[in-house]
Amino acid sequence: MPVTPFHIAAGLLFKAYAPARVSWVVFALVNVLIDLEPILWFLLSGDPAHRQLHSYLGAAIVAAVGVWPGRMLAEAWLRWWNRQLNPAQARWLGTGVRIALPAAWAGALLGSGSHIVLDSFMHSDMQPFWPWAADNSLLQKIPVDGLHAICLAAAVWGGLRLALLAWIKLPATVAGSTLRDATRLVEISLVATAGMTAVFFLIMPFFPENDRRDAVEFDPAVWRATEAAQFRGNPRAPMARPAVRHLEALRPTRAAALALLGPPDARDRPAYISYHLGFLGWIAMDADTLDIEFQPDGTFVAARIVQH
Ligand SMILES: [Zn+2]
Repeated sequence: MPVTPFHIAAGLLFKAYAPARVSWVVFALVNVLIDLEPILWFLLSGDPAHRQLHSYLGAAIVAAVGVWPGRMLAEAWLRWWNRQLNPAQARWLGTGVRIALPAAWAGALLGSGSHIVLDSFMHSDMQPFWPWAADNSLLQKIPVDGLHAICLAAAVWGGLRLALLAWIKLPATVAGSTLRDATRLVEISLVATAGMTAVFFLIMPFFPENDRRDAVEFDPAVWRATEAAQFRGNPRAPMARPAVRHLEALRPTRAAALALLGPPDARDRPAYISYHLGFLGWIAMDADTLDIEFQPDGTFVAARIVQH
């Protein structure tokens, strides 16, 4: 997944363009509820699986829960938020405590829909159209770091626009000190944005996934000997790309791939088998896997590294 805060931050964009029509708090709540699913599965089975709640149908049901009873919870949170503000802050950051029903629905549906769309790009175990279809045609159409960049850009854009809207709406009577505060807030937002963007691009070169996945030659014996799901220092990780190249050249049948690599320890489905590679991505909640896809008759389709 783009980790939950990325989903939630991206929601600022919706809020910035329709402040009265979208409840961002309900948007955030729905995203948190949907991501309880892989967290619960991880705690129960060790596999952070994306199942029913990571489908449009499941997410729509979560959206309904987000509207009721979620809306009551969200209003209670807004009342708590207002109580934390002093009068000067309240002019800026104070908010209405009633969430209109249409705004709650808009927040809930945008939150759940955007969650499924974004997650569809990264999770090979997702079935967005469950229970009607098992495939996920968006998988890997956008690389994972690209998804994070899109979420970050949406958050920055939305956050700046919200700050600007708050500035414009200030009553003329409190122009003096408030305007100074306003300018400062805009400045801080700009500096923070520039800083975050700079940090984002500065630290990226220190996570050269390609090198770490292409460090040693593919050795099927070592691969098979890695029995349990090993998240840190998994010996398969540095031979991941050579393994993909080997498989792409060999194009083994399902049976031949199983003989070469051993039983899959991540997922074993008729359409694909999946092996744990440990943690490789730089913003990731789940371990990465090597997935091999097959036709129904067992013919090789593709092998790829999937960041989760
Ligand atoms: Zn998710």
